[in-house]
Amino acid sequence: MRYISTRDNETAVSSARAIEQGLSVEGGLFVPASIPRLPDGALEELCAMNYRQRAVYVMKLFLEDYQVAELTDFVNRAYSPRGFDTPRIAPVKRLDKNTHFLELWHGPTCAFKDMALQMLPHLLTAAVRKNGEERQVCILVATSGDTGKAALEGFADVEGTKICVFYPRDGVSDIQKLQMTSQSGGNVLVCAVNGNFDDAQSTVKEIFSDPAMREELSGAGWMLSSANSINWGRLLPQIVYYISAYCDLVNGQEIALGDSVNFCVPTGNFGDILAGFYAKSMGLPVAKLICASNSNDVLTDFFKTGVYDRKREFYTTISPSMDILVSSNLERLLYHLSGGDSRETAEYMESLKRAGEYTVSKKIKSAMDGLFAAGTCSDAETKDVIRRVFTEHNYLMDTHTAVAYGVLEKYREETGDGTSAVVVSTASPFKFCAAVLEALGETPAGAGPELIGQLENAAGVSAPAPLKALAGKTARFNDSFDKAELPSVVRRFLKD
Ligand SMILES: *Cc1c(COP(=O)(O)O)cnc(C)c1O
Repeated sequence: MRYISTRDNETAVSSARAIEQGLSVEGGLFVPASIPRLPDGALEELCAMNYRQRAVYVMKLFLEDYQVAELTDFVNRAYSPRGFDTPRIAPVKRLDKNTHFLELWHGPTCAFKDMALQMLPHLLTAAVRKNGEERQVCILVATSGDTGKAALEGFADVEGTKICVFYPRDGVSDIQKLQMTSQSGGNVLVCAVNGNFDDAQSTVKEIFSDPAMREELSGAGWMLSSANSINWGRLLPQIVYYISAYCDLVNGQEIALGDSVNFCVPTGNFGDILAGFYAKSMGLPVAKLICASNSNDVLTDFFKTGVYDRKREFYTTISPSMDILVSSNLERLLYHLSGGDSRETAEYMESLKRAGEYTVSKKIKSAMDGLFAAGTCSDAETKDVIRRVFTEHNYLMDTHTAVAYGVLEKYREETGDGTSAVVVSTASPFKFCAAVLEALGETPAGAGPELIGQLENAAGVSAPAPLKALAGKTARFNDSFDKAELPSVVRRFLKD
């Protein structure tokens, strides 16, 4: 199967190229030229498999230039008992007959980014070999928190790679900072940047687009690559858990094979929910994909009106991984719903850049209406959801998951739609102790890892081992740098 750019139908590359390159040269994102259908009987077969086998089956449909034996090896390494605290990898938990949680935070960093970033290093290093590339790969990441740690865990000690993560010195939580600065591995570097996330991000982009720097590093045997969420290699592993969750519901006799379900997804960059769109397009019986936002509700407005307008106030919320006004992966949806019109897609993106907004065609809007619903949940409502569900069901969730649950409740009330629904749960509540404690009516006593014990006591559940282990950890990386110093930091790191 070939991959084409959302902004230029004339480009067509192999999956290995799409994964190595990340972004197409004219700025578009790679999408499969056609979305493969699940063959007849595939769902029955998938129901009889474990998570790792399901992952091989689904990914193989999109990756013609990777062998089954190769994918099996990657899956065994990515979703290993060392990294994941349950053999089910992405377990489904029942709240009531019609409501389930798909828990995507049983990996090494306790957030859903692990589902993709444990797999990406294997897909990427194989892609580089398949393409005949002899240089080693250096991953540069600018992070506002979760992505940096998940990428570090994914790439630590992966042969033929180094990874360098930049985070804003005062822009991440104490837990997130310690998670990154205590990272083990002989090929990792973690640097605080004096500035905010945009400073870190713009410097990384400058390094990527500096031909002299690339040339110099290339001479030393290195190519640069990125682990951010526009890479097809990050999206693909996420399609698996939608299909897996459906099979688990069938196996648990919560639904019958063929019944439709809704998925409600806490959304930021639109990567997670887009994977749900691909699963539905492959033939998985999904009725509605419900897009949940916090107060940064640009997507809610978009799905209701067809107008994407990023010219609005930016709010810092208690669900920080969803604090985003430009959702990059939406471009892929527009491309598919336009019927594969790269010119139309490029025009929307151009208008977003130039005017800060665009309005989709009637054709796209009506396709969106059939596939999606959307809603918003404020910080106060989010805390109320956490407290209520904990009190009534003894189920503790994090702030991002609570946004999705709150939106699902509103959706059901407004539409009367009683379809069985899966809430996608994206982080362990112990990653966001302070807000969760407050939701339960407790006063946080301390900061960072100190709060983990307090939340364990308040909720009567134990925290995931990787977060508990943070209490005894010290930082390996203590340096902070000005923006201008970062290129030489990267040079030194690669020439070591
Ligand atoms: C990244 C993230 C999200 C948002 O996912 P997108 O793919 O960006 O929409 C939601 N919750 C958590 C905890 C995250 O880390």
